[in-house]
Amino acid sequence: MAAAKDAPPTAGASPDEGGALPAEAIAEMDPAGRIDDLRDQIRAHNRSYYELDAPTIPDADYDLLVRELQELEALHPDLITPDSPTQQVGGPTSAQFAPVTHAVRMMSLDNAMDRDELRDWGDRTARKLASLGLEGAVRYVCELKIDGLAMSLRYEGGRFVQAATRGDGRTGEDVTANVATIGAIPDRLADGAPEVLEARGEVYLPIDAFQRLQAQTIAENEAAEAAGRKGRPVPVNPRNAGAGSLRQKDASVTASRGLSFWCYQLGEIVGAEAPPTHSGALQWLRELGLPVNPETKVFDSLEEVYDFCAHWVEHRHDLPYEIDGVVVKVDDLAVQAALGTTSKAPRWAIAYKLPPEERTTVLQDIQVSIGRTGKATPFAVLEPVFVGGSTVGLATLHNEDQVKVKDVRPGDTVIVRKAGDVIPEVVGPVLELRPKGLPEWEFPKECPSCGGPLVREEGEAQTRCVNPDCPQKRLARITHFGSRGAMDIEGLGEQQVQLFLELGLLRDVADVYSLDYDRILELPRYGETSVRNLRSAIEASKQRPLANLLFGLNIVHLGQAGGEALAEGLGSLQAIMDASVDDIAAVDGAGPIVAASVHAFFQDPANRELVERLIAAGVNTEGPERSVLPQTLAGRSIVVTGTVPGYSREDAEAAIKARGGKSPGSVSKKTFAVVVGEEPGASKVTKAESLGIPMVEADGFEALLTTGELPG
Ligand code: NAD
Repeated sequence: MAAAKDAPPTAGASPDEGGALPAEAIAEMDPAGRIDDLRDQIRAHNRSYYELDAPTIPDADYDLLVRELQELEALHPDLITPDSPTQQVGGPTSAQFAPVTHAVRMMSLDNAMDRDELRDWGDRTARKLASLGLEGAVRYVCELKIDGLAMSLRYEGGRFVQAATRGDGRTGEDVTANVATIGAIPDRLADGAPEVLEARGEVYLPIDAFQRLQAQTIAENEAAEAAGRKGRPVPVNPRNAGAGSLRQKDASVTASRGLSFWCYQLGEIVGAEAPPTHSGALQWLRELGLPVNPETKVFDSLEEVYDFCAHWVEHRHDLPYEIDGVVVKVDDLAVQAALGTTSKAPRWAIAYKLPPEERTTVLQDIQVSIGRTGKATPFAVLEPVFVGGSTVGLATLHNEDQVKVKDVRPGDTVIVRKAGDVIPEVVGPVLELRPKGLPEWEFPKECPSCGGPLVREEGEAQTRCVNPDCPQKRLARITHFGSRGAMDIEGLGEQQVQLFLELGLLRDVADVYSLDYDRILELPRYGETSVRNLRSAIEASKQRPLANLLFGLNIVHLGQAGGEALAEGLGSLQAIMDASVDDIAAVDGAGPIVAASVHAFFQDPANRELVERLIAAGVNTEGPERSVLPQTLAGRSIVVTGTVPGYSREDAEAAIKARGGKSPGSVSKKTFAVVVGEEPGASKVTKAESLGIPMVEADGFEALLTTGELPG
């Protein structure tokens, strides 16, 4: 599904619903009135975000409001008041927890949205230092900006005694009991800890813990709905889910959520001399046993700092936790002290913000697309919005139940998110902005392509068009047959299939092997060369592995991995066609649902006839040679990250599989070992470290393959 292109980025909710205003509109407004309006909006959002852990707009939209207020205040300094949100840290504390006065203030951070703003900060810092007679090179420490909740941990005599939230920077909330349940936070520091040490850092919810919580809430809500009760709001992102998990009355709830912690700053120190640099302080914290993020780096120039930021814009999703930026700090603590702070943030640090991954926009419509197996997938038609680095106009809504669970309705303002992968997702509606009386969306009863009935079988999540002649299904099926992973036919994409269908050159996938090339040559966009290329691509596809053919046949529930399992397990197309449901289900990696579907497919006379025609055309119907290698890795799961010299990624995985092992894409408790090649993925290494999974250097890979044991 392609996103609508070239649409201008929108600034979130439209002005009459709140939200930032365009520059021309601002110029015409009474500044004092707009400033008041913005402050009211921001304060309300601060309450939702800091006190209730339930924001009603995405951070990027909130940041636009703050930016607009800052710009107006800069134009009208006489209108700045000390109670403006631009002058204050965070929000008020909740009465649920006892107040804690911070010995050293906890501050916010100014931010830079791009390279120019980062450079401006560098220039401001240099000017300020020059004015103090402190010229000279500045070193910078770059840290990931973890998207969580700031926390101050207090250790006395090396023992953990208190944890407090940031609150308004001077007074936080006592959350000691809850924080004590976080496994990453030590109860005791290593020997040599000072009399008092405050360590500041971020409590965060790792992505896998967030996804677990989300899935659990959805399941509980479904059960609640079935019992006629109302469900709880589904957590929308790890940051708010993490903050909510931490600020629980019952610490055992916090304990169950899997929170973690990264330490990034010293607070109060009594009874020891702090190191002279920030990087030294981090090292000290690390030696005392506190978890300091391993991605921290020190640089001598802002150019290198920018490269570090650009790297994390690209690689943010390699991490098992969410970040929303990079924090750049001046390393020398004496220089930090000379630079000082504003009322809200230190001048010696800046947060380089990564592009937003969540925005709000209007859901204009919900439509349904028909896939190759007839699956009817609802998708959102959105007012185009710039999010996660591109403009999004369409987003899948997966199936009928998802639309119900999310309760999104055409006309709603919705939160759109693009994280983890590049596929945009509609998170949910902003209920405060729902127009009165907006009707619920009903799943259509008829296929939008052929008008045939859309059917949802008992116990199935998917609704399908069951008309075998549905033109949209036909187009999707043949396109899929020619796609990568299936028969991989270059020059037979959706457009060409559509054209050949319209001309009656194709009706089903077997027709691909009896195309009338003379007719094609007569078509305006085809010449001798393109026809020759198409012909040889089609010819070459006959040699594809059996697994590709099976995947290309559009059998419901049979994916690429299932195709491989059947080809390997049963050995030939004929054996698969003759197999009983039980024979198929007995194949490792198949399972009862796939078995029933594959069996039913080959029982259908029309499908059998189709397959006979493919066989007659000369496609490969034999499975791979059975492996004769010793099964040294039987039952072991080996994750490969980075490049192992002499092996492509596929070769390394194949070598593991050929010896009976598995090679999944992610590290888990079940992983036997992680093979670390050149340029490994940071998230896999960090995960392996945190789970204590053994890591094998690339040059130990061969030994691992031959012996099945960790190289000594
Ligand atoms: P901030 O989040 O931009 O920066 C300060 C915070 O960064 C620190 O308090 C700390 O928690 C965190 N941090 C993470 N890694 C760090 C590191 N390595 N070193 C130092 N600090 C680190 O500023 P803020 O004042 O805490 O909050 C403002 C932001 O909060 C907004 O930009 C917005 O993203 C979000 N917000 C959203 C809403 C909403 O309604 N959506 C409302 C209020 C605030």
